[in-house]
Amino acid sequence: MITPKEILNKQFGFNEFRFHQQQIIESVLAKKDTAVLMPTGGGKSLCYQIPALLFDGLTIVISPLIALMKDQVDGLRLNGVAAAFLNSTLSANEQAQVMNNIRNQQLKLLFIAPEKIFINEQQFLNFLKPLNVSLFAIDEAHCISQWGHDFRPEYLQLAVLKKHFPAVPIIALTATADELTRKDILEKLNLQSPKTFISSFNRENIHYYIEPKRNWFAYLLKYLNEHKEDSGIIYCLSRASTESLADDLTENGFSAKPYHAGLEKQLRDQHQELFIKDKVKIIVATIAFGLGIDKSNVRYVFHVDLPKNIESYYQETGRAGRDAIKSDAILFYGRGDLVKLKKFCEIENNPAQSKIMLDKLNKMSRLCETQTCRRKFMMNYFGEEYPNYCGSCDVCLSKYEKFDGTIVAQKALSTVARLDQRYGVNFVIDFLRGSKSEKILDWQMKLKTYGVGADIGKEEWRQYLNDLIVMGYLDQEKGQYPVLKLTGKSKLVLKGEEKVILVKSVTRKEVEQKEQHYEVELLSLLKILRNRLAEQAQVPAYIIFSDTTLIELAEYLPQNFSELKKISGFGEIKLQRYGKVFLDVVLNYCKKNNLQSRILNKTPKRQRKTGASRSPEKSETKMETFELFKSGKSVAEIAAIRNLAASTIENHLAFYIEKGKIKVIELVSQEKIQQIEKAIQLHGDLSLSVLKNELGEKISYGEIRLVINHLKLGITDGKQ
Ligand code: ADP
Ligand code: ZN
Repeated sequence: MITPKEILNKQFGFNEFRFHQQQIIESVLAKKDTAVLMPTGGGKSLCYQIPALLFDGLTIVISPLIALMKDQVDGLRLNGVAAAFLNSTLSANEQAQVMNNIRNQQLKLLFIAPEKIFINEQQFLNFLKPLNVSLFAIDEAHCISQWGHDFRPEYLQLAVLKKHFPAVPIIALTATADELTRKDILEKLNLQSPKTFISSFNRENIHYYIEPKRNWFAYLLKYLNEHKEDSGIIYCLSRASTESLADDLTENGFSAKPYHAGLEKQLRDQHQELFIKDKVKIIVATIAFGLGIDKSNVRYVFHVDLPKNIESYYQETGRAGRDAIKSDAILFYGRGDLVKLKKFCEIENNPAQSKIMLDKLNKMSRLCETQTCRRKFMMNYFGEEYPNYCGSCDVCLSKYEKFDGTIVAQKALSTVARLDQRYGVNFVIDFLRGSKSEKILDWQMKLKTYGVGADIGKEEWRQYLNDLIVMGYLDQEKGQYPVLKLTGKSKLVLKGEEKVILVKSVTRKEVEQKEQHYEVELLSLLKILRNRLAEQAQVPAYIIFSDTTLIELAEYLPQNFSELKKISGFGEIKLQRYGKVFLDVVLNYCKKNNLQSRILNKTPKRQRKTGASRSPEKSETKMETFELFKSGKSVAEIAAIRNLAASTIENHLAFYIEKGKIKVIELVSQEKIQQIEKAIQLHGDLSLSVLKNELGEKISYGEIRLVINHLKLGITDGKQ
């Protein structure tokens, strides 16, 4: 009998299963109801596609994403899979043809929208009953839950599937679901003792940046100028702003189109199509855009306005980098948006729901305002643990400069005192900056500290006040009115008896550019070929091959069919169909440049770094480091053995220190521990760079991190 692995290799051209794909497929093959949580780009599709090919009958895939169905089906057909879709975009004739194919058992997979299944008194269900249905796959399963952020009432009807087809297994798949939604999915679908598989939500290849919403247009232009070749999405809150921003960008020489639900359908589809086919690089959209987007080479996602909750933010940013190549997610954060969005949280006659929405919005703003690793914050939000440092978000990449902030602190503290400790952060900042707002009363304007902080920007002040609170020089009341109060320590500063060190974030470390191992010129030749083939087949380029496949070709330079087989994405059918043309381009290039095959450099996927994206606790890669360490190897030795950076190894070990499984003294000398602890007492543990500055060359970032984690032992539970 043919195995799932063989199908993976032969039909899809991939070497190894990812995440829990294999276990999931086995569960489905054993006819168990199965629930799958996997991040976008994780590879959910294969979890039902491979069983579909192994089962005798028909697999029905239910998806709300009509726009996506055609691409999915085209993609499958290119890999030699008999698939079709039924939705309103087909003519009556075409629909009849598909029905015929189902009746004649010529299909392995059918994609269908939920409303279509229940049309005409379940006529379609009755049509299916005598046929051999082997599996139902419910994609975007969170749509069934009111607790999710994307509820679709038509999904509720899916509850009856189990009644009509008690013996047919169901696989429910989603990339986003908190615990409540997760439970809801299982219940609403009536799944029978389901097996649930949850993969880590970490999208390692996405780098997160949250920037103050000041001069954001200039920032955007600069970024776009530096990424002219890349595709990206810019999300805005309002329809009008998508149009005006798209116009502005076009005026500045970029190829950009707007997308929102208010555009005429034809125009909307046209813009989407242009984007998917790489003919327009930038789409400026409301959140209406994206659910139907499977484009794998989106290199960046901007949020000009604040998303409503972390789920949305995660999902929208998640549209970047489905091909596992490094991508950026950049959000412009301003408090004004928060105020605006609060209004949207009010759901009429539903205080409970309103409260949930408001709470989710507040968490979103906390993510933007805290100075902890953005990735950690998000992972914790989704119930996952994560180390304190990811190395690829704006917080982790920022370098801080400390300065004597005593005067700044005195200005702030004396303002709080003069305003009788009766105002919150926003008012104090406006007052310090000499705002003409009518909220500030005449008598207050006459106070001595009115306007003394005008030379410092709003955001910078917010940062300093935050830091003063963290350091205990100010207190913020809890509850509805977070008024600022003085503390016992305030007086020392006001009397000049205590110096205050503040940190200013100055530069960001240059994002470490991964060395490019591939032939850049060859890659662009391959892209040209891919575009030509896509044009001929009338499908988006990434359906022919993903960027990953082209990059592998340009890196490993296969010289014949058997080497080509080792390139990810070349299954048997694609090898036959496209092998020769791609090989010709590679061979030509190699001849001209006197290059040889590098296929021997290609290690099986499993041994590469991708493993680190799994759930930290279950992560095999961390375990592997841990075990090597326990066998007596040093950090440097493990780094060499595993072909990973020493800092990565230290990161792994830091995790076990926080868990109490390794003692810090096993890694850092007693003397250094004492020095580091002293520095932490002085500066807190918010900024590694500040600590590093203080401690000097002899002590490494890694060592500091290890001690920080050691101090956390038993204090944190990893949850926000
Ligand atoms: P999801 O639906 O979870 O967002 P997809 O199923 O669309 O993700 O998969 C994302 C990309 O990863 C696709 O291009 C797919 O072909 C590829 N992929 C999936 N599984 C594997 C695997 N085991 N090895 C290599 N590539 C894979
Ligand atoms: Zn980080």
